[in-house]
Amino acid sequence: MIQVPLLDLSYQWRSEKDHLLASVERVLERGQYILGPEVRALEQEIAAYCGVGHAVAVGNGTDALILLLKAFDIGPGDEVITTPFTFFATAEAIVQVGATPVFADVDPATYLLTAAAVEKRITARTKAILVVHLFGQMADMTELGRLAEAHRIHLLEDACQSIGAAWDGHGVGSQSDGAALSFFPTKNLGAYGDGGMVLMRDEDRALRLRRLRVHGSVAKYVHQEIGWNSRLDELQAAMLRVKLQRLDAWTNERIAIAQCYHAAFADLPVHLPRPAAMARHVYHLYTVTVPQRDQVQRALAEDGIQTGVYYPIPLHLQEALRSLGHQPGDFPVSEQLAQQALSLPLYPGMEGWRQDAVIRAFRKAVLTLPKVQG
Ligand SMILES: *Cc1c(COP(=O)(O)O)cnc(C)c1O
Repeated sequence: MIQVPLLDLSYQWRSEKDHLLASVERVLERGQYILGPEVRALEQEIAAYCGVGHAVAVGNGTDALILLLKAFDIGPGDEVITTPFTFFATAEAIVQVGATPVFADVDPATYLLTAAAVEKRITARTKAILVVHLFGQMADMTELGRLAEAHRIHLLEDACQSIGAAWDGHGVGSQSDGAALSFFPTKNLGAYGDGGMVLMRDEDRALRLRRLRVHGSVAKYVHQEIGWNSRLDELQAAMLRVKLQRLDAWTNERIAIAQCYHAAFADLPVHLPRPAAMARHVYHLYTVTVPQRDQVQRALAEDGIQTGVYYPIPLHLQEALRSLGHQPGDFPVSEQLAQQALSLPLYPGMEGWRQDAVIRAFRKAVLTLPKVQG
C-alpha cells in the first residue's frame, strides 16, 4: 500500500478550492471561453513574475517549444543543440519544425548542459541552443549566454519544469531569446488540464507568436502565414491565476523539504541534487543518483514509498530518434543517469510524517544494500 505518493495534488486543490471555484464561475458567467481577459491577465502576470517583456499563452508546453522554435524561423537544415537527458518533447519539438536535434552530454552533478559541452557540438548549421532546466534547476545562463553571443546563435530555454527558478537572481526567460513553460497538472504551476506559454524579450517576435497560435491570423479571417490552433482556454487561465498567487509559498515549501532531505542524506553514498551557488532550484523533482537504483526503488516500494524514474531511456537511444544514428556509449553521463536517477516524493503540503517516512525508508534502503563491487 502506498503511504507516501510521489506527488499529491489534492492539497493545492483543497487549499484554494473557494478561489478556484469562484474563478471558474467568473469565466462561465462572462461567457468568453477562448482568448479573453483571463488569458491576457495571466500573460501579464507571468511575464512580470519571470521578469520578461512578453508572454504568449498556448495549448501546452510542447506547442510552446514548437512555436518558440518557429518564431526564430528554425527549420529544415538547421541544427539545435540540446540534452539527451530530458522529457521526449524537447527533441520532438525540434524534429517537428524540421530541424535536427544535436545532443551534448550533461554534467553529472547538476544533470544539466554546460557551455563547455555545448561548444564542442557547434557547427556552421547550429541555429540555437535549447537548454533544459531539468527538475527545477537552471543551467549556467551566464556561460551559455556568452557562448550563444560569441557564435551568434539563439539561446532558448525549455523551462517547462522550472517556473520560479533563477540563475544569478534572474528568472526563466529573462536571460535568453525565449523560453517555453508548461502548465501540465504535475508541473510546479499546474493547470487542471493542458496549458503552456512562451516567454520572450522581443516584441515583434511575440506578436508573431500571437499570430502563429491562431492560424497565422492578423484579423478575423485574414491569414498572413500558416500557423496552428494552440490556445490556452479561459477556464485554465483563470485557475492558473489563482495558483500563481500561491506559487512562491509552494516553491518555498518545496525548497524547505529539499533542505531537510539534503541534511538527512548528507552522510549517504548517494549523489544529492544540491543547487549550484548561483541557482535558485525549485525542486520540480528531488532526484538523487544511486548505483543500485532499481533495488533501492523496490525497497522503498515495499515500505510504501512511491518514487519515480525520470528518465529511463536517454533520447539518443529512443526508437523514434534512431535516424540520428546514435549508439549506446555516445553520451555516457546521460546513459548512467538513466540507470541511476531516482526521484523521491516532494510536493507542497507534504506532511512532516510523510517526509520522515521517506527519510527513514531511503536511509534504510541505501544502508542495507550490498556494496557494489569495483
Ligand atoms: C512537461 C515537459 C514538456 C512538455 O510539456 P506539455 O505541457 O506536457 O506538452 C516539455 N519539456 C519538459 C522538460 C517537460 O518537463
